[in-house]
Amino acid sequence: MADISLRNIVKTYPGTERPATENISLEVADGELLVLVGPSGCGKTTLLRMIAGLESPDSGTVSIGGRDVTDLPARQRNVSMVFQSYAVFPHMRVRQNIGFGLMLAKVPKEKIAERVERAAELLNLGDYLDRHPAQLSGGQRQRVAVARAIVVDADVLLMDEPLSNLDALLRLQFRSEFKRIVRQIGTTTVYVTHDQAEALSLGDRVAVMRDGRISQLGNPIDVYDRPADSFVGGFLGAPPMNFLPVRVTSEAGRTGLTLGELSWAGPEHLASFTDRPVLLGVRAENITVSTGDVPGSLPAEIDVVEPTGAATLLTCRLAGHEIKAQVPATFRGEPGTRVSLTFADPAVRFYDSETSLLLENA
Ligand code: ATP
Repeated sequence: MADISLRNIVKTYPGTERPATENISLEVADGELLVLVGPSGCGKTTLLRMIAGLESPDSGTVSIGGRDVTDLPARQRNVSMVFQSYAVFPHMRVRQNIGFGLMLAKVPKEKIAERVERAAELLNLGDYLDRHPAQLSGGQRQRVAVARAIVVDADVLLMDEPLSNLDALLRLQFRSEFKRIVRQIGTTTVYVTHDQAEALSLGDRVAVMRDGRISQLGNPIDVYDRPADSFVGGFLGAPPMNFLPVRVTSEAGRTGLTLGELSWAGPEHLASFTDRPVLLGVRAENITVSTGDVPGSLPAEIDVVEPTGAATLLTCRLAGHEIKAQVPATFRGEPGTRVSLTFADPAVRFYDSETSLLLENA
């Protein structure tokens, strides 16, 4: 068992005022692939380095496999890491690069050869074992760094933006390869990225971080579908969730919403927010755009049309607010076209304007 348990981790770097991580508690299950995602400076790397033992928390505990490792140095934690600036040794062939950790651990030669071959096979590096890094592409070099990390049989695999140096296509290829590999080796893995698409595609669960705290932790589909606050909704997704500052009304016992001159029916669970502003959150793919008049829809005007290949993204003006909607690539419309927008009600979320927290349907 190599589950990871973080309890109330606080870390403030000397000479800084704000904690890099502020009272973080987190459990990673044995064999789980957990992704830490968030904007630059939110504390992802700091948290990863504390799991690795490269940084010490000011308070709180780190346990791996039920063992409190808070005061143990990195080399006694049996963790394996791949950093953003992955270093492969240029003077060593791929074979030696991958087997380096095993050689340091004085594993017998035949065992090293066996494990290196197996890792190379997993990472499609079998044909390159006798090459030097200079004779490899960036993506292949990256795979060497990953192979070296997985070959050592660590309890825990820690990855810090390992794909950041790859171009978009390679990242995409590597992403699915990496997911397959981690599933095959079954090692508990914590993976840091600032790329929300990478986080959603890789993680068994995703922890969205902001300002040294975890804003939301959950499986990718839930976190995307039901962001716990407007920050998470705005961080995940391309485009991000749309937010409209609506006002809650009540007339004859019926809850309604207004946006400028527009008004429409709202969900009953907002009744306690009557006469107050809330944020309506809706994702682009949950808006239907029609060119004709649709009863009960909201009148808007197309501002920008962006084909993205599989679908087209429209930027529309709705009661003076910008809103992005996704339509099929076959959609025909241009800037200035008047359209009707319909929101898919079950996918619409509401957020407290002051706290930015999700207002749950009680
Ligand atoms: P990025 O995506 O840019 O790598 P991150 O989310 O990994 O960011 P961290 O590197 O963990 O963020 O940094 C968290 C905060 O701690 C930041 O405000 C950063 O400036 C600060 N910080 C990080 N390392 C140090 C250090 N060695 N000394 C002082 N402050 C630091």
